[in-house]
Amino acid sequence: MAGLDTALTDVLGGKTAAALAKSLDLETVGDLLRHYPRRYDERGELTDLAHLRPGDQVTVLAEVRKVRRRPMRNRRGSIIEAVVTDGRGTLTLTFFNQPWRERDLVVGRRGLFAGKVTVFNRTRQLNSPDFRILGDAALDDGPGGGEVEEFAGALIPVYPASAAVPTWTIARCVALALEVFDPPADPLPAGLRARHRLMDLDTALRSVHRPADRGVLTAARTRLKWDEALPLQAVLAQRRLAAAARPGTARPARPHGLLAAFDAQLPFELTSGQREVGAVLAAELDSPHPMHRLLQGEVGSGKTVCALRAMLQVVDAGGQAALLAPTEVLAAQHARSLRALLGPLGRAGELDAAEPATRVALLTGALPAGARRQAQAEVASGAAGIVVGTHALLSEGVDFADLGLVVVDEQHRFGVEQRDALRSKGDSPHVLVMTATPIPRTVAITVYGDLEVSALRELPHGRSPIATSVVPAGEKPAWLERAWQRIREEVAAGHQAYVVCPRIGGDGSEPDAVDEQPRPDEDEDEDGRRAPLAVLDVEPMLASGPLAGLRLDVLHGRLPTEDKDRVMRAFAAGELQVLVATTVVEVGVDVPNATVMAVLDADRFGISQLHQLRGRVGRGSAPGLCLLVTDSPVGTPARDRLAAVASTLDGFELAELDLEQRREGQVLGEAQSGRSSFKLLSLVKDRELITTARAEAAVLVEADPDLAGQPGLAAAVAELVERERADFLEKG
Ligand code: ADP
Ligand code: MG
Repeated sequence: MAGLDTALTDVLGGKTAAALAKSLDLETVGDLLRHYPRRYDERGELTDLAHLRPGDQVTVLAEVRKVRRRPMRNRRGSIIEAVVTDGRGTLTLTFFNQPWRERDLVVGRRGLFAGKVTVFNRTRQLNSPDFRILGDAALDDGPGGGEVEEFAGALIPVYPASAAVPTWTIARCVALALEVFDPPADPLPAGLRARHRLMDLDTALRSVHRPADRGVLTAARTRLKWDEALPLQAVLAQRRLAAAARPGTARPARPHGLLAAFDAQLPFELTSGQREVGAVLAAELDSPHPMHRLLQGEVGSGKTVCALRAMLQVVDAGGQAALLAPTEVLAAQHARSLRALLGPLGRAGELDAAEPATRVALLTGALPAGARRQAQAEVASGAAGIVVGTHALLSEGVDFADLGLVVVDEQHRFGVEQRDALRSKGDSPHVLVMTATPIPRTVAITVYGDLEVSALRELPHGRSPIATSVVPAGEKPAWLERAWQRIREEVAAGHQAYVVCPRIGGDGSEPDAVDEQPRPDEDEDEDGRRAPLAVLDVEPMLASGPLAGLRLDVLHGRLPTEDKDRVMRAFAAGELQVLVATTVVEVGVDVPNATVMAVLDADRFGISQLHQLRGRVGRGSAPGLCLLVTDSPVGTPARDRLAAVASTLDGFELAELDLEQRREGQVLGEAQSGRSSFKLLSLVKDRELITTARAEAAVLVEADPDLAGQPGLAAAVAELVERERADFLEKG
């Protein structure tokens, strides 16, 4: 008999087990049983053949309509051509020199056919597809009858498969494994299962592979989703609990300190969101346990001001604060803006310093040795209350006098391990992570589940709104001309413009290795689309055409750092009027005088990315304008996405939409997995389940931190932690 840990070699033939291990990475019975079907075909319903696209690797359920064998024209041997149908469309199957196939291809029978779609003579084909004719109850003469029937029920599981291991082989292996499978220990506590009416694990595993009907299938999938949600939420609850128990240093606010002086000199009123977040941060810093908080807010929502106020509270309490940015350029920019915000409060030791005052030290690899030594000395002595650098700051063994707070800016992939590394610096400093990418709640509690989350949802008053329009260059060329004219008008009024392209270009069409790639569009046929517009083609085109006479330059990830800096400085100083760039402008470029942005081939970018991009205009007092230029026709998913971006400025709403579209992009195509470690759980559709699991996990962990009373769940948690660690080591 077998359990989840039994090796597949003990259950299946050695050759089959080896194939499963090699092509699908399935080693144990548990791996196999958790290799869930991608979809289920109904015996009665055939696959819609009209939606197959050339190049797709597909498995279709269809009926054999016609079979003919003929000799090959120029060679010996024969070709079988079979036509299969869904009742409307057809698909031609061709087999070269496999005469025995003819016997299985009985007209009128149904089967699963797997292969890659090609087009020949304008008909869609599968060349030498793998196939399996389905046995049916009435005439049970299907191949393999008598052995394990892999498709037992009316719902036929279709598995994520590989060329070497087709879906029916997996189905047969699953059937064999289930025959010898003993009911496993259930990781979900019995009380929880009863509360949520969840199936036991054994039934769920059997049902997900061989469902009696759709109702049972749904119940099985729900139960198995809990297996994904609960251990993760339990890990996160344990981490939160451990963090809350970890000793730290309280950094109480001081009545007449730097923070009070800073607030008194602020040229604006804090928004109510900033005040709320400020109160939360102030209280957490004043606790003898380290803070672990994520602060979300759009670019320009005033996060930096919140962070600076927290840093000042720590400095007032005698500690130091470090601000970490993802790049040296951004670190330098942060140091400049912190110094500007602080004014004389940040010039301790200089002639015009205020009293009290501190210093802001910038510490990056780009510093000349002398300046670096001086900065290091200020950090080590504590003269610099605020230290700005890149993430390297912590790994490079820089000495702090008393590091009390670490603020991490703009870091989207700042994992648990990095946070751990960071805590080992100083005496468990408080940690504040800031992100400008709005994260839907389910993602936040999944990815950042060990952090508490705050958000700044409103922009400061007086901020001019950004108007966004879709410019359908294909249908209405005049609109594109108007777009260039708008840019000329803004420039004439003394403002500046961005033109963003999806690609750098220059030497052929090789992908832009440095900048983040726009998301490939899954909703559309890639065939026959022209290459995305490239910075190096667009700039000369504009300079000699619609924007002739203006001062243009290019910015992209392949430029040497000096050139990048030179261009950025020239743009910031207003010497350049139009910057033609890739998404490098997405992060942190801050030029308040830039008021208009044209995004070319906007359909090539993801929703959140477009939203992030347009945050670059309208940073000053003049209204911002964002033009989303596209060739995609009305009614296409790509065009709808752009319309959505144009219709709202709510980044959270757009983030939810983005997430939905990403997950739903995969309808008929095979492949596509590994987007997340979840197999069944969807961050979009299972919001409620995830939220409930989080609450359940918190209660369980609170009552029994090590889960000693729940060995099944404890094992699942341990496995998850191990996998996470392995992934991290692999990436690191
Ligand atoms: P973020 O870090 O979220 O991008 P910042 O803190 O850098 O945002 O703020 C963006 C700009 O808005 C800065 O110039 C800042 O001085 C200004 N600002 C911040 N808070 C307010 C406010 N409450 N009222 C007016 N302007 C503000
Ligand atoms: Mg900022």
